[in-house]
Amino acid sequence: MGPPGRHPVRGLKSRRVKIANIRFRPLALAFEEPYHWAGRVDYGATNVLVEIETDEGITGYGVSTAGRPAESTLQALEGVVPLFAGRSPFDIERLTWEARFLGSFNHSPRFAALTLAGVEMALWDVAGKACGRPLYQLMGGAYREDVDYFAFLQGDTADELAEDARRAVQAGFSVIYMKVGRGEPKDLENTEAVRAVIGDRKLRLDANEAWDVGTAIRMIGRLSRFEPEWVEQPTPGESLPALRQVKEAVTVPIAADQAVFSLQDVYEVCRTKAADVIVLSFHETGGLLAFKKAAAVAQAAGIVLCLHGQSSTGMTDCAQHQVGLTIPNLTDGNQIMHQLLRQDVLAGPDLSLRHGRLGRLEAPGLGFELDWEAVERAEALYRQDPHYHHA
Ligand SMILES: [Mg+2]
Repeated sequence: MGPPGRHPVRGLKSRRVKIANIRFRPLALAFEEPYHWAGRVDYGATNVLVEIETDEGITGYGVSTAGRPAESTLQALEGVVPLFAGRSPFDIERLTWEARFLGSFNHSPRFAALTLAGVEMALWDVAGKACGRPLYQLMGGAYREDVDYFAFLQGDTADELAEDARRAVQAGFSVIYMKVGRGEPKDLENTEAVRAVIGDRKLRLDANEAWDVGTAIRMIGRLSRFEPEWVEQPTPGESLPALRQVKEAVTVPIAADQAVFSLQDVYEVCRTKAADVIVLSFHETGGLLAFKKAAAVAQAAGIVLCLHGQSSTGMTDCAQHQVGLTIPNLTDGNQIMHQLLRQDVLAGPDLSLRHGRLGRLEAPGLGFELDWEAVERAEALYRQDPHYHHA
């Protein structure tokens, strides 16, 4: 199926509110402490801030997940400007569909999704602000009063992880999440140390694609005595059959994460019964509306969705929280990542959790205010620190 024509939406040009300006700026955000996972150690995150301003003076903000350097994301985003200029910010489905066929997006659906999600997010922020309503009210309304998040354990050694687990228990989290896939002795030692601290709370283990099928089956067998609620993405994301093979060989439930980006991926996981849970972010689906649809596909298969922290800022966490409030088949213990940052770019709201939970955000749009001094600092860090160009 090729790109649709540019003008079939009747009245599109006659809408009153129009997109007047779109601006982008790279942001580098340092983590409070090194972040250890199966792939590597990360010291910070790179994002691109998207600002969409209407001719009525409403500005919506979004954030695109960028690679390092962020130049390819910035360049691709510039291609969106002529497409969006003068169009209605409310035509979100249409605009994001058309943007997917722009040059640099056309051959790379995952890059398109991670990049365009920031633009789509900014459009929803505009829409909410224009209506004076928080996003959850435009997305079907609140299905739940709050969203539950997991404690995302940080540290390298068993002692460090156990210490963080103690803090998580004291803070009242009911779901604990940690990384595995970091070598067999380390995985066993770390998981045992954390289980000893957290009692019978739920424990999730994320291998981030570290294992082949045989290793995954053996490791999950060995880790099963620590009673994980599920093991996330044990095998490379490219192969659903590998995931299914592991799922059929072990008794611990299996979650798909890196295997799933698009609506079609969600459908395939459900159709082939490759996983028990789907971990997904709206950056992976290419936007909040697509994320809502992805949840519906999973719901039809009786599968729950877990919010996947991505892009690390409080901006993203507010946006996914808004849509998370509206989704019936959302799990407890979802992921946010803004707390890993040394300093976020938000002036508000307060995103601190109570017993792992965050209630409704009632400000219009996505519900956050930017701290412009922090934004300036994050842009300066991107431009000055070569680490963010060569990670
Ligand atoms: Mg994961």
